[in-house]
Amino acid sequence: MSAVVEIHNATKSYGDRRVLRGIDLTVAAGTVTVILGPSGSGKSTLLRAINHLEKLDEGYVSVGGELIGVRVKGDRLKELPERQILAQRSRIGFVFQNFNLFPHLTALENVVEAPLSAGVPAKDARERGRAQLAAVGLAGKEADYPVQLSGGQQQRVAIARALALDPELILFDEPTSALDPELVGEVLQVIRTLAGSGRTLIVVTHEIGFAREVADRVVFVDEGVIVEEGTADQLINHPAHPRTQDFLSRVL
Ligand code: ADP
Ligand code: MG
Repeated sequence: MSAVVEIHNATKSYGDRRVLRGIDLTVAAGTVTVILGPSGSGKSTLLRAINHLEKLDEGYVSVGGELIGVRVKGDRLKELPERQILAQRSRIGFVFQNFNLFPHLTALENVVEAPLSAGVPAKDARERGRAQLAAVGLAGKEADYPVQLSGGQQQRVAIARALALDPELILFDEPTSALDPELVGEVLQVIRTLAGSGRTLIVVTHEIGFAREVADRVVFVDEGVIVEEGTADQLINHPAHPRTQDFLSRVL
């Protein structure tokens, strides 16, 4: 199986706080990887590094076989030109905890913004955008502004937007954490459908039941290191490491 993401020795500090301490991770094409871990363990920083929103102090990330940047200790960062980073980022969908929709744009305008910027003809972009909204259960909501939508609907718009450029890789950073409990299910259902579609997903979540159901692989991160990884059954039902056991006993 080919690797969509390869991370080697990802290392990052903010000031003297070491947030990523040498993460190695390979994600195979078409698989669903769930990342679990306590708050502050570095999960968002890792996702942001994959999307090139953070530069690593050491190590590298490669997406689709294209290396973004390499830094060996003490060495100058060797990285792709900004244009190529932008091109690569446009092939990665990112779904944020707080939706991050443009408040002054309608649902459809949010979805078509990136395709229009990428030069897709307006008629095609709008047609595809409508279909993408319909696919997440939002037919009829095209002209609504984010403030008129529930949190669950806003997050589904954000997922439609993440899909707009047909990315090979989609990153989800706690996509249901900001939602009222009764709205979590509708968003998980959309992600579940995507999980069966052959795309590559990396999902940071505290929804253990969901992880058990859809993850091909579960990774437990604590204090900037991967403590343990395995299948959902191994990691969730039979965690080997005391830190994983402790975390699960608190969230289950
Ligand atoms: P998680 O997503 O697992 O909760 P994060 O990756 O967001 O963890 O953060 C890991 C640590 O890095 C936290 O202590 C956080 O406060 C710190 N951190 C994250 N982003 C920044 C930043 N831009 N500047 C300074 N510290 C940051
Ligand atoms: Mg986070």
